[in-house]
Amino acid sequence: MAVERTIRHIKALATGAKYMLGGHRLTLMYPDDIQEFPDGYRGMIEYDWDTCIKCGLCAMVCPADAMKMYVSKEESEEGKRPVRRPGINYTRCIFCGFCVDICPTNSLKFTKVHDVAFYTFEEQIYPPERFREGIPKPQYDKEPRKVRAVLDEKRGIRYEPVE
Ligand code: SF4
Ligand code: SF4
Repeated sequence: MAVERTIRHIKALATGAKYMLGGHRLTLMYPDDIQEFPDGYRGMIEYDWDTCIKCGLCAMVCPADAMKMYVSKEESEEGKRPVRRPGINYTRCIFCGFCVDICPTNSLKFTKVHDVAFYTFEEQIYPPERFREGIPKPQYDKEPRKVRAVLDEKRGIRYEPVE
């Protein structure tokens, strides 16, 4: 038993040494390189104000309490029942996709954008009016190189430039 354990430890150390000395870089040189994501990638969510029927299913199904129905200030009239629309809180979203899947009018769609930096907690909350404006675009000092992750039998993951 002790011999077996020792062999396992030696193997683990050898694997660690192989990656340390091998010099194969698995991380991206972000933001000089950015990864091209596959279709279906779950990034920030786009909201279509015009097709939304305000059913509230997206908020109801959200397991993280990230999608909520907010009073739509520009559509609600005094003395009448307030009109509510969905908004999202990215500090809570786990990108599970339940809201996108359940929406009966396809008013919510995932984008491939995930790399947006925020300075404050509040900036990550998108009430309906802000949700409607679309997702913020990441800003780079210089145009990044797009790369694709390729599974390499020997090295694990390597990145290839996208033509
Ligand atoms: S992706 Fe999931 S966690 Fe995020 S808002 Fe939609 S349902 Fe909620
Ligand atoms: S986004 Fe879709 S699920 Fe959410 S309130 Fe609008 S129509 Fe309903």
